[in-house]
Amino acid sequence: MSSDPSPYRPATVAVTSGRPPHQPDNPLNEPLTMASTYVAGGTVEYGRYGNPTWSAFEQALGDLEGGRALAFASGLATVATILDLVGQGAKVVAPRHAYLGSIGQIADLEARGRITAELVDVTDTAAVVKACEDAALVWLESPTNPALEVADIPPIVAAAHEAGAYVVVDNTFATPLLQQPLALDADIVVHSATKFIAGHSDVVLGAAVTGDEQLYDVLKKRRDMIGATPGTFETWLALRGLRTLHVRLERAQSNAQELVRRLAAHPAVGEVRYPGFGAIVSVVLAEGGLAADLLTHKTTLWVHATSLGGVESTFERRRRWKTEPATIPDGLVRMSVGIEDVDDLWDDLAAALDDLTV
Ligand code: PLP
Repeated sequence: MSSDPSPYRPATVAVTSGRPPHQPDNPLNEPLTMASTYVAGGTVEYGRYGNPTWSAFEQALGDLEGGRALAFASGLATVATILDLVGQGAKVVAPRHAYLGSIGQIADLEARGRITAELVDVTDTAAVVKACEDAALVWLESPTNPALEVADIPPIVAAAHEAGAYVVVDNTFATPLLQQPLALDADIVVHSATKFIAGHSDVVLGAAVTGDEQLYDVLKKRRDMIGATPGTFETWLALRGLRTLHVRLERAQSNAQELVRRLAAHPAVGEVRYPGFGAIVSVVLAEGGLAADLLTHKTTLWVHATSLGGVESTFERRRRWKTEPATIPDGLVRMSVGIEDVDDLWDDLAAALDDLTV
């Protein structure tokens, strides 16, 4: 594998990066290397420090994001490893509507006196910039899960850097094809690779990507030390999924955009939240939480399930999770639009929505 950045455009990077060299009898794909133990004297030594299958995945994701990637056991293992680097008592700024697991970790660290936290509305750039003043780490998620709020990353990065703070952007919803935070000067990009990157609802995996060599070394050392390392088969599956990210996303996004138009005209829908890009749509049902629950149990094609970013369309009422903030409307249904035929998706959804209005 090459350690040079790929010279290609994103779709070609997704297909070509992280492959063995084109030499006679080399496989086209990096094989699955199942190994805990390596012969001594090399660069790996032990299965917690590296693996060629991880490296292939990391190369491809790093090339897409424009930095060096590290795979982790899950998105939340990535979040925990990064938050663990924050100094005792230091301040973390984070979106009030970020993924509840990330917010949960921040709240837990604050409750134990490890950090102080300030939760912000990421759409209020002036407030986020103000909060950066005495911060050590600024955590962004854009778009946010499930409110789909978008942060204006460049001025926030500028304010954070002015204060000497690092900026992390959870890029799970946008993917590197729609947003490249490192190019906007963010320090670390985080993924729940479980979602669009792997894309087939069969893997739990996380990743961090950075353009800063020192940060990369610190993160790798910490990941390896605490053993937040990925499963080998998971990275193999995720790389296989990543090969089609651009094709999946293009189709899912165009389905999402069509559904947004149709949903906005349906009387059972009070509000449609869509940032204009990506394949996640949140709708707030006019009749509230009960109607939202009913909807998620009335469809046959749409699957009632948590998680997102797979080829299949799934949805859920987010407030069914007790830890989802009360500022998320009770009737909000987060929809992960898949790559099926959009008319089948709409027919199924419209029939269930029509049922709610009779
Ligand atoms: N970040 C976001 C935006 C997520 O949606 C999730 C999971 O839903 C995570 C992080 C956590 O990732 P994982 O479930 O892979 O641990």
